[in-house]
Amino acid sequence: MTQTTISASTLYIVATPIGNLMDISQRAIDVLTQVDLICCEDTRHTGRLLSAYNIKNKTMSLHDHNERQRQEQIASMLDEGKSIALVSDAGTPLISDPGFHIVKHLRSLNLAVTPIPGACAAISALSVAGLPTDRFSFEGFLPSKSGARKTKLAELEHETRTMIFYDAPRRAIDTVQDIKEVLGGERQIVIARELTKTFETVHADTADNFLTWLNEDPNQLKGEMVLIIEGAKVDPNAISPAAINTLKLLLSEMKPKKACAIAAEIHGVKKNALYQVALDLKL
Ligand code: SAM
Repeated sequence: MTQTTISASTLYIVATPIGNLMDISQRAIDVLTQVDLICCEDTRHTGRLLSAYNIKNKTMSLHDHNERQRQEQIASMLDEGKSIALVSDAGTPLISDPGFHIVKHLRSLNLAVTPIPGACAAISALSVAGLPTDRFSFEGFLPSKSGARKTKLAELEHETRTMIFYDAPRRAIDTVQDIKEVLGGERQIVIARELTKTFETVHADTADNFLTWLNEDPNQLKGEMVLIIEGAKVDPNAISPAAINTLKLLLSEMKPKKACAIAAEIHGVKKNALYQVALDLKL
């Protein structure tokens, strides 16, 4: 195994554990030990991780409220040849955590930014949810107020990809009520709570059944959670505007039967459904 060597003039984006302190790579430990400075969302919080690994290094706070002020300071330190690590309280920095502005700024100055990958609550939850993972959409935090939450869910009504949200378990009952109301009680939901910690729970069920489960066990309303919602089912009879346009063009050139067969082939829809559209277009 090779040893980690630190590059000068580089900002390392270092993932840290989301619960279990053992979930950190050797490379992350090496980088945190060797850099000139560690920028932390909360220096006291990161201090506990550093002392668990006996890392004695300089730390500086970098959070939502001072990120822009710190930009120039960090850029000039990197310019001078220093190497710096950025960590958040848990998981991968920038994923619903501070760091975006600083990374954007450093990239615009052509300064090196490099990842030290590791834990991320969203990806950990997705990996055990049992919902399709080939395409998914990370939606960050759901709004805490019901009105805004329902608006957000309504915007995603037709999203066919698996959707991942961060949310607070204390709001879980209200959130599931809203999902039931906006997306229907049949939608499959997965709640991944306290991942990698003592009371880790991953529960999957329909929105309808979820409410009973949550109401029966108040412990499920504690800690941290990732909420995953199954994507909308694709209706094989749904016909897109593009398919209708193709059909219109073909109908001007050929008999409906042939036009429907070709349009169905191009857009992957059922011939019979298109035939109905062709009849309607003639009226
Ligand atoms: N950057 C982090 C990451 O990579 O996952 C996420 C930071 S975000 C501010 C914190 C949210 O992540 C929590 O409110 C919760 O939704 C989720 N989260 C973090 N740790 C978790 C865990 N151990 N189990 C379940 N969800 C977790």
